[in-house]
Amino acid sequence: MNENRLSRRTFLGLTLLGCLSLGGVSFLASCQKKPDAEKQGAEGMAKGGPAAGDPCADISGLTEQEKQTRVANSYVGKSTIEGKQCSNCNLFSSGTPCGTCSLVRGPINPDGYCNAWVARKT
Ligand code: SF4
Repeated sequence: MNENRLSRRTFLGLTLLGCLSLGGVSFLASCQKKPDAEKQGAEGMAKGGPAAGDPCADISGLTEQEKQTRVANSYVGKSTIEGKQCSNCNLFSSGTPCGTCSLVRGPINPDGYCNAWVARKT
């Protein structure tokens, strides 16, 4: 009888411990932050590429050195700074749908931006 009680206690204890472990794992999994659009944009910037859906996103033809010009200047396919975008930058040459830049290599979105932006001279 005593052995049965002890076994039942052990069983209940192990069951409780198992539930707590599963709950902990589930809780930790839910705490992982999922990337939001802003984070994806930042990641795109870090990689020197524009955000998903950008018609000027294909940089597969660039050399690593050319890709670095995008990373080094923090180029993004969509500017978040009002009044500053590639289309009104002095280094931009227009094209459809993508233009080019005399500094940053590869297809340049007219709505993009990088840290080297210079106001277009009129
Ligand atoms: S230098 Fe100007 S045109 Fe070139 S990527 Fe930067 S903002 Fe765009």
